[in-house]
Amino acid sequence: MAGQHFLFVPGPSNVPTRVLRAMAVPMEDHRSPTFPKLTLEVLNGLKKVFKTEKAYPILFPSSGTGCWEAALSNTLNPGDKVLVSRFGQFSHLWADMCVRLGFDTDIIEVEWGVGAPVEEYRHRLSQDKNHLIKAVLVCHNETATGVVSNIKAIRQVMDDLKHPALLMVDAVSSLGSIDFQMDAWGVDVCVSGSQKGLMLPAGMGVTCVSEKAIEASKHSRYPRCYFDYQDMLNNNAKGYFPYTPSIPMLYGLRESLRMIEEEGLDNILSRHERLAKGVRAAVTEGWKLSLCAAEAKWYSNSVSAIRVPEGVDAVKVIARAYQKYQLSLGAGLARLSGKVFRIGHLGDLNELMLMGAIAGAEMAMIDEGVKVERGSGVAAAMKVWQS
Ligand SMILES: *Cc1c(COP(=O)(O)O)cnc(C)c1O
Repeated sequence: MAGQHFLFVPGPSNVPTRVLRAMAVPMEDHRSPTFPKLTLEVLNGLKKVFKTEKAYPILFPSSGTGCWEAALSNTLNPGDKVLVSRFGQFSHLWADMCVRLGFDTDIIEVEWGVGAPVEEYRHRLSQDKNHLIKAVLVCHNETATGVVSNIKAIRQVMDDLKHPALLMVDAVSSLGSIDFQMDAWGVDVCVSGSQKGLMLPAGMGVTCVSEKAIEASKHSRYPRCYFDYQDMLNNNAKGYFPYTPSIPMLYGLRESLRMIEEEGLDNILSRHERLAKGVRAAVTEGWKLSLCAAEAKWYSNSVSAIRVPEGVDAVKVIARAYQKYQLSLGAGLARLSGKVFRIGHLGDLNELMLMGAIAGAEMAMIDEGVKVERGSGVAAAMKVWQS
């Protein structure tokens, strides 16, 4: 088909041409004397994105999911107790991994559409007088529902209670698009990936570990090998990797970090906020539909999950958008299948690109019998972006 395909799933996101070009490199010796220059530039650049001076970024040739597993297997002992909340497919999958890896998993069940329940974390942690809970897990941006949680407030609860557990945060769909602060929020392990806010192809796990997490890893008896933090850190210190890294991906990351530096991380976060506001106006003011996120305080600036009216199958809207308009919208996951479609608005994006997604979703909805007024979403977004 002619023209450009519009990729608006909440990851993988659009990879800028600059990054694609930077990745077209011949292979080279990853043990050469000059290779450390590349490694050290990307690891140092990542520190700024994680907003850390003290913690250590680590890159695994995996996706974000590999970093979930690394977080657990490096810092905990077999059967340790972990506390996690579940309010969407991604928080579910991390909790499910804890169960499958044999951890004693205390799951706080939360309605899909709201975020991490700070007071319930307080309640369960305050009952844990003997500090059996070794890790507190939170999904920062639940990509399935378009809900962002308050990590700082959960840190505050842990501090109030002087609870020594490690704080582990999934920031796969927030790093580089929604404010995340490793040091200021006292995060011990942050888990992320290449294909969302970092504007890279899928295939690299990007994580960051605090001194406290590294210390815990020295005493952890959980079996691990490929994902061992210490092997990685020992090699990274000299600018190398314990095994062959994805060389094109490192060049791509170097370029995307340069782009982030040029635009400025805080400007990028504001851009995501502005773009998200336009999408939300299209949904609520233009189309008169509702978001899956139950209240404004949960609104995500990187993804919106949009509820279709009763009697409409969102799967058909998504298929129509794909086949007729070359637009990829995000599917409703698990229990949200058929009930929502998602617009990912993260990464290398501007107003007019997003206009394409809004217009395409609007046409696909009208085709599928949703009663939205033609042009209403586009007009509502224009109003926000022009003001
Ligand atoms: C995309 C995503 C993941 C999964 O990451 P993969 O890179 O697909 O393994 C985990 N958590 C959240 C919040 C995500 O958005």
